[in-house]
Amino acid sequence: MNRDHTKTIQIGDRVIGGGNPVLIQSMCNTKTQDVASTVNQIKTLTAAGCDIIRVAVPDMESAAAIREIKKQISIPLVADIHFDYRLAVASIESGADKIRINPGNIGSLDRVRTVVDKAKEYQIPIRVGVNSGSLEKNLIEKYGGVTAEGIVESALNKVRMIEEMDYGNLVISIKSSDVLMCIKAHELIAEQTDYPLHVGITEAGTLISGTIKSSVGLGIILHKGIGDTIRVSLTGDPLEEVKAAKTILRTLGLKRGGVEVISCPTCGRTRIDLISLANQVEDMVSSYDHLDIKVAVMGCVVNGPGEAKEADIGIAGGIGEGLLIKKGEVIRKVPEEELLSALQEELMKMQ
Ligand code: SF4
Repeated sequence: MNRDHTKTIQIGDRVIGGGNPVLIQSMCNTKTQDVASTVNQIKTLTAAGCDIIRVAVPDMESAAAIREIKKQISIPLVADIHFDYRLAVASIESGADKIRINPGNIGSLDRVRTVVDKAKEYQIPIRVGVNSGSLEKNLIEKYGGVTAEGIVESALNKVRMIEEMDYGNLVISIKSSDVLMCIKAHELIAEQTDYPLHVGITEAGTLISGTIKSSVGLGIILHKGIGDTIRVSLTGDPLEEVKAAKTILRTLGLKRGGVEVISCPTCGRTRIDLISLANQVEDMVSSYDHLDIKVAVMGCVVNGPGEAKEADIGIAGGIGEGLLIKKGEVIRKVPEEELLSALQEELMKMQ
């Protein structure tokens, strides 16, 4: 997994590409002009591990709101623009750290040039985004349908257009809801360009199906050494996107820090409410990014202590109570209703 061949690009105070850590993006689902709600959501996502946030800019009020939002947040903000080049210009003037456009739906070359000139003036990157759903007719005809080759050609054509305007501060994103097509498109484009790639599976679906599709797609793409920022797109709370993205990066060894929760699937031996406990533990530790440990939540004493040995700290359920295990040693017996707080207490000591 070697991703150091891509150009480095600065987004606000973060740097992507060139072997820098893969960063997590998410997108607000608040109305951007509702500054209070948007800032609130960004702060929640930041605390959960979001590195870069994107907001929709469907109108001038949203573009203007970026100025106020930026004052209150600590991570770079990307303005998402469709169709109206004036919104891109206004967003850049309001302080967006990057803009996302599909030059294909911005209109004439002159309009695209106006946006590029503004990005150049403010020295911010442009993310050139292409979705399989909006692939040009001529490329659909050329390749006999929507294909990975067509998506890649479309994206590279747009990149070339902006390069001809003398701007190379670019990030590319190519998206398809077809996971296999998306993987192939990323393999193809990575061979043909050294711009950083923002990777995501578009319209992936709801929490379970979207997480699975994104994990398979992003997992394979990232494991090939492709991708500099990621987004898990879910029809749901963006907080779940960030949690899923963090787990994908950790699973691939691309992110360190944070608490990994391992929990057993439960069986006929389980005598405590382990499913609820495991969920509560996962919630509790989701913002403990300063720790780099494994927590085991196991249902019984048959396998629990053994499995928990692999973890830094763990719980093994009994009947109405559980064992608290640290580095394989049982440290105490705790009533079921106090297991969560006892675990939290031990985690606090480890900070
Ligand atoms: Fe069953 Fe115990 Fe294994 Fe959990 S740890 S699945 S309760 S045997």
